[in-house]
Amino acid sequence: MQLYKSQTLKVYNSLTSKKEIFEPINEGHIGMYVCGPTVYSNVHLGNCRTFMSFDMIFRYLKHLGYKVRYVRNITDAGHLENDADEGEDKIAKKARLEQIEPMEVVQRYTVDFHNTLQKFNLLPPSIEPTATGHIIEQIEIIKGILEKGLAYEVNGSVYFDVAKFNESYEYGKLSGRKLEDMIANTRELAAQDDKKSPQDFALWKKAEPQHIMRWPSPWGDGFPGWHLECTAMSTKYLGETFDIHGGGMDLKFPHHECEIAQAEASNGHAPVKYWLHANMLTLNGKKMAKSTGNNIFPNEMFSGENDILSKPFTPSVVRFFMMQAHYTSILDLSNEALLASEKGFHKLMDSLELLDKLETAPASDFDVATWKQKCYDAMNDDFNTPILIATLFEAVKHINLIKEGKESIAEADKNALKETMHNFIFEVLGLDHKLDAQGDSDKLPGVVDLLIQLRNEARANKDFATSDKIRDQLAALGIQLKDGKEGTTFSVS
Ligand SMILES: [Zn+2]
Repeated sequence: MQLYKSQTLKVYNSLTSKKEIFEPINEGHIGMYVCGPTVYSNVHLGNCRTFMSFDMIFRYLKHLGYKVRYVRNITDAGHLENDADEGEDKIAKKARLEQIEPMEVVQRYTVDFHNTLQKFNLLPPSIEPTATGHIIEQIEIIKGILEKGLAYEVNGSVYFDVAKFNESYEYGKLSGRKLEDMIANTRELAAQDDKKSPQDFALWKKAEPQHIMRWPSPWGDGFPGWHLECTAMSTKYLGETFDIHGGGMDLKFPHHECEIAQAEASNGHAPVKYWLHANMLTLNGKKMAKSTGNNIFPNEMFSGENDILSKPFTPSVVRFFMMQAHYTSILDLSNEALLASEKGFHKLMDSLELLDKLETAPASDFDVATWKQKCYDAMNDDFNTPILIATLFEAVKHINLIKEGKESIAEADKNALKETMHNFIFEVLGLDHKLDAQGDSDKLPGVVDLLIQLRNEARANKDFATSDKIRDQLAALGIQLKDGKEGTTFSVS
């Protein structure tokens, strides 16, 4: 029997502002769409947190036995500088500044995105479609919305008619905004603006002669509006209505609001059952921004090359730190918080080693079955990873007491404890002990070779006290030196 049949999962739905019992549209199957990155710069740590949150959600849904189709797109065209309908395309601008092709920009930062997410041990999505790969689908959606009279064409651009849409549907229901208020609070349209109203948004933008990223369409050469790609790709791969749509909190308005409007205008019904939004990451209590210097990139954390943290931190420690907050809460990153997480992470990993070596007894003092359900209860409560981690540390406490001989555990309980700890730590939270050690083991041969050299120098100087000390202390660490004809080699036990 699949686990999901015995667990009641609740999720916080941004659309209803309520925690709801999660029931997929098709039993046993889940369609999940998450807005991916615009690949015009190295991926931000804040974005990493968002994708890590949905990776944890993806992992838990799979752990529960659901078949999940997880679609996360790559925005490689159409995202304009000010997130609205004006300014330069973010990718085209970068290409112009660096004097390279836009697709070189896309390739460079897509590779960076994948590398970084892999370091954080994120699972790849089931499908990772690109905006430029779905221009035809986007044009088809625009045609449909035009036919329904909910969009209009002006000078080679097509705009969504928000006021017209609002007559039959409700624009603003996700972000809790009312169209009347939006109209009252917006500036007048500039004289050169083609839109009928400031609330209207572009489905298709006419390409100016200097614009490199352009495609032919029934309205002339142009490019799609940013919001449209997600409607096109989610509908194509997950259907007109699917279970979960996720993204950063900052995308709720206008991006997700526009996605809902586009899908409802095209298909006549709501596209998504549960809208999930991940919250942002701050640094030392302030918003991260490149312009103020209050910013750090993942690679700078791993290498230690930054002015903000006292030492390098491994991807596993950073991931553990991220998982210590609920995905809907703001999380503040600081040196102290990371140091504390590092300690906690190692304590958790050490307890797994201890657990392996525990002696068993005929009976248990630790009620493993109840504890195990507590782990599920935490995750069933809108993926509450901080409560899950606190529950895992309850087990750590018992493991230590059993080790000290103050409590006992039976064989079957020990096995259940081990399996549950491994499932939640590695499979659900996505932590990776091996990754954590990788950075150090890479450097080991170089360090030992250096010590062999120092030992050879000591022996050449007849300083046998030093040469023996190096050999013996390495042996104490499990590193054996072997002197042979070809020189000294080493092995690690
Ligand atoms: Zn999107």
